[in-house]
Amino acid sequence: MDKIRVLKDLIDTFGISGFEVPIREKIKELFPQAEFKEDEVGNLSTTVGNGGRQIAFMAHMDELGFLISYVEKNGYLRFKPIGGWDVRGIYNRVVEILTDQGMVQGVIGLKPPHLSKKEEFEKVLSWDDLYIDIGVESDQEAKERGIVPILPARLKKDFTILDEKYVVTRALDDRVGCALNLLLLDEFLHHPPQNTVTLVWTVQEETGLRGAQAFSARNSFDEVYTLDTVSAGNLPWGNFHQSPARTGGGPAIRLADRKGVSSLKLRNFVKEVARKNKIEVQETVTGGSTDAAAAFEAGLNSIPLCIPVKYTHSQVEMMSIADYHNALKLLLLIGTNRR
Ligand SMILES: [Zn+2]
Repeated sequence: MDKIRVLKDLIDTFGISGFEVPIREKIKELFPQAEFKEDEVGNLSTTVGNGGRQIAFMAHMDELGFLISYVEKNGYLRFKPIGGWDVRGIYNRVVEILTDQGMVQGVIGLKPPHLSKKEEFEKVLSWDDLYIDIGVESDQEAKERGIVPILPARLKKDFTILDEKYVVTRALDDRVGCALNLLLLDEFLHHPPQNTVTLVWTVQEETGLRGAQAFSARNSFDEVYTLDTVSAGNLPWGNFHQSPARTGGGPAIRLADRKGVSSLKLRNFVKEVARKNKIEVQETVTGGSTDAAAAFEAGLNSIPLCIPVKYTHSQVEMMSIADYHNALKLLLLIGTNRR
């Protein structure tokens, strides 16, 4: 399985919070030989191996997006953000709206400089100032194109390989976790682990860890590892201390974040596996949260293992390809090792 190819496939596939059907179907389609389970809220899982420790690797399928909330008489669309967007990153871009008739494209445009007053340049825009323009002139025309409230939408994505070392795109958070989970599945289907390993793809992480909460309430494991991203601090603004993990420094053990402290037992175990196998890992205390917090609250030992990503939640999330490969090595060892 080509590791970059599978990542790009998942990035391209539609799946904003609450509308994960296409990405879930994509994951299933990549492994017709696996036995997948789908729960009531849409979480997907499959179990490989038996005996040993009960381990779960968890990644979230959803990404940030928009909901079309209202169609104006003149055909312009109003919309609401889903997940933790920064409004400064969303205008003057192409949008893709998923309708029953397929994908409809539009733009979130700004009033051009030629038509703006001086004070307008300084104003920070709010969501209510923005529209989506799909190139129609009435609500009737919009309807004919399949546009009705409430439809999901996303920004159009680019996928760039920078200097053969970095991937730059939207939704590394958390399609990289989803890809790692698939690569683990691929390996474990060929070489079953001596542990019982469940690979889980959750829904609605970006709207408050909701899928992981539901899954963790109904399933029990000895260990839960969430595979996600962490904001890398190696940026030019001198804020490394806010999230001390750098791109290219290896996968990061997220010891604590806004939601609390991870399992120290698992942290020590992961560090030991990494040390013995000479895999460079980083440890970080940062902001934000991951599905690990939801698992913890359901009484499960959990810890996030993260790929450091620059410019998180933007169109240009950037990760080191070496970190991606090293994370996979580490996860395989964690899943296979007898304790
Ligand atoms: Zn996120």
